[in-house]
Amino acid sequence: MDYNLISTLETCASYIQSGKEAGIIDLVLYSHIPTLIAALLAGFYIFLKNPKSTASQALLMLSFSFSLWTFFDFLIWTSTDSRIIMSSWSVLGFLNTAILLSALYLVAVFPKNKDIPLKFKALLLLPIVPIIAFAPTSLNLIGFDVMNCEATENSLYVNYYYLFSLVLFFIILGIVIAKYKRATNSSEKKQITLLGIGVTLFLLSFLLSGFLSSYFDFYLFEFYGLFGMTAFLVFLGYLVVRFKAFEVKLLGAQALVLALLLLIGVQFFYAKTTTDFILDAFTTLLVLVAGYFLIRSVAMEVKRKEELQKLSDNLAHANERLKELDTAKSEFISIASHQLRTPLTAIKGYLSLILEGSYGPVTPAIQDVLDKLYIVNNRLTQLVEDLLNVSRIEAGRIQYNFQPTHLEALAAELTDMFALNAKDKNLYLKMSLPKKTLPEMMVDPNKIKEVMQNIIDNALKYTPEGGVDLIVENGGDRARIIIKDTGIGIKPEDKEHLFQKFLRSKETTKMVVSGAGLGLYVGKSFVEAHGGKVWAESEGPGKGSRFIIELPFVNPKVKQGVSDQVSALAPQEDKKNS
Ligand code: ADP
Repeated sequence: MDYNLISTLETCASYIQSGKEAGIIDLVLYSHIPTLIAALLAGFYIFLKNPKSTASQALLMLSFSFSLWTFFDFLIWTSTDSRIIMSSWSVLGFLNTAILLSALYLVAVFPKNKDIPLKFKALLLLPIVPIIAFAPTSLNLIGFDVMNCEATENSLYVNYYYLFSLVLFFIILGIVIAKYKRATNSSEKKQITLLGIGVTLFLLSFLLSGFLSSYFDFYLFEFYGLFGMTAFLVFLGYLVVRFKAFEVKLLGAQALVLALLLLIGVQFFYAKTTTDFILDAFTTLLVLVAGYFLIRSVAMEVKRKEELQKLSDNLAHANERLKELDTAKSEFISIASHQLRTPLTAIKGYLSLILEGSYGPVTPAIQDVLDKLYIVNNRLTQLVEDLLNVSRIEAGRIQYNFQPTHLEALAAELTDMFALNAKDKNLYLKMSLPKKTLPEMMVDPNKIKEVMQNIIDNALKYTPEGGVDLIVENGGDRARIIIKDTGIGIKPEDKEHLFQKFLRSKETTKMVVSGAGLGLYVGKSFVEAHGGKVWAESEGPGKGSRFIIELPFVNPKVKQGVSDQVSALAPQEDKKNS
């Protein structure tokens, strides 16, 4: 150092004394000590919890450079030795820049811990060289002002590092905004916003107060600037507690107790009498004991929460696995059914040819066997079709082909189809249609036919005597199809379950009638895809059953499907035409 320092002990001592009397020194203590301790504690605490994280390292750098700055500033205010004052003052410019650089590093790597490239680091560090190089020279501090017990700054040096700080400040703002825009989820956005506000508040108050105090030569501003750190720590605390930022599982209670201890601890600086000391010590002890219990209870709570979280994670995992198994099962059924369908169709085809006499005359005995084979084969085909439908429904792969349809035509077709069947069983099968023809409806005729076919088939299957009525009605805004039989009826408790997969009533299973309990399940799904409803009614066992299907004339679900289909068809037709 090339200062010609004289001993100014006396002048400075009287200056400090006057400061004490004016209460300025109290303000120095109050603004510097707790902020310094809090910044260091926060920085080290977060760093030690996760030393490998780049963000924790950046935060430690920030808290360390800030604490050093505060420490040297504190020395300047309280020391009476011009050498201590001058050497402390000379490093402030460098520390000021270090604070900004660490803040920049922090916002750049937060929250993803991705380091910045080396060349950027070098580019940022380059302008700091003159600040370090000229710190101990008269280019930084010109001399010592004995009257005010302070250094005389060289405005060139001060302006240089303030300008650099300002540039860094705007880079920081730019990074925060860019990161906010690029953030992919709302939690990341919130974290960046909170850190951005905290850092900006801190830097603004720190820089502005430093600049104003240098500019006006009025250093009281500086004290207030330090409180920006407290604001930053509040945001930091919130980030850690609420978002588990910096990967620290800090408990809110721990932070609270620490802050309380800090606040009470500071009072020791003001204690003037023994009573003050005893009171302070007592309150500190009280907070310590209460804090211990508080932290312990919160720790237990947190542990319980973590265990619960683990359990629910495991459950979610198991659920996921179950879903996978279910999909695998559906796929298996689908593949197996597809493989079964082809040979069954071949069998049906050959049986028809033999029965028609294409392979020569058929004796009555063989004809009887072939008839039975034909029926059994049909049942098997239906079962495979049902299984395929179930697997399609569960995989959400059912496709509907909506087209203008007359329900009366479907009913007539089915009555014809089942006429022989009913006659064989000595049952009547009567159809009744509305007097006024129903409007044409947008439905998938094959699916609706399948639903009606299954219900009519059931009605004939579960009716030993009497018969079946197939009624089509106009229900106002909907068509109603009723299939009424005089059969075995349904117990009240069975009514709701019939539409579930694989469910058959006990009575039915006793009757030794074939069936897997899938038809109604599949039918319900088909009807609901048309925006309709299907349900069963019965007075009880032995009193016959009624199955009712309701289909709205105009249905939004169906409309959507239709317009999709129409628009999908349109371009192809255009192509054909052109
Ligand atoms: P299934 O192939 O067993 O007929 P469905 O899903 O079509 O399967 O029907 C489920 C169950 O509903 C039947 O097993 C039977 O118990 C009952 N059921 C269906 N229709 C009637 C009816 N008309 N009378 C009495 N019970 C019926």
